[in-house]
Amino acid sequence: MDRRSELAANLAEVAERIKDAALGAGRDPASVKLIAVTKTWPASDVRLLSELGVTDVGENRDQEAAPKHDQCPELGLRWHFIGGLQRNKANSVARYADVVHSVDRAELVTALGRGAAIAGRRVEVCLQVSLDDPPAEHRSGAAPEALDRLAELVSAQPQLRLAGLMAVAPLGVPPDRPFARLGEIASAFRERHPAATMLSAGMSHDLEAAVAIGATHVRIGTAVLGARPGLG
Ligand SMILES: *Cc1c(COP(=O)(O)O)cnc(C)c1O
Repeated sequence: MDRRSELAANLAEVAERIKDAALGAGRDPASVKLIAVTKTWPASDVRLLSELGVTDVGENRDQEAAPKHDQCPELGLRWHFIGGLQRNKANSVARYADVVHSVDRAELVTALGRGAAIAGRRVEVCLQVSLDDPPAEHRSGAAPEALDRLAELVSAQPQLRLAGLMAVAPLGVPPDRPFARLGEIASAFRERHPAATMLSAGMSHDLEAAVAIGATHVRIGTAVLGARPGLG
């Protein structure tokens, strides 16, 4: 099978999974947006995905994302930065990212706000919330109690817009319980920040559980593009 047919078949399969999960949860399948996570894969794949109807792509490393974005200038894609972000990369990421999902501390809000101003762009921000219980030092994501303060800081940055929340299920446990908690955190957050409607959750292996608790954006790599060469 050529790459285009392989991607088309994978996209059809993922669309079916999203549809089943949405209908099972009494949701409109169109309310769940697929972000194709193209990390480790070449710009040629991004191009094929765009031709196959993908509108949103996700990347997790600036060194890889920046040149890949620049190789696809005319596709009109929405670029999502989903990886751990270092402050010194904020200027670069703000140049091409439409949405940054991984904002989990104050210094990143300030750095992204400044980067977006330099780039003359508006950047949407999701606050990444940790679902580790008890909290784990080395894992990314803010504690649920820290979200309101971060949201305030985002709102104070004219170049940033608070879009919503993002989370990654903890490793090695079934996703249902942490995602149920995420659903509660997200609905409480939306009561206080009604415009922040985005909920970015769900990957190749757990998209069903994420759609069941209201994910509006699923971040799918392997199930669309195949197993990544090496660790990505
Ligand atoms: C790589 C990555 C994904 C996609 O993971 P798959 O299991 O390949 O679907 C989603 N979210 C984040 C934050 C990632 O780094």
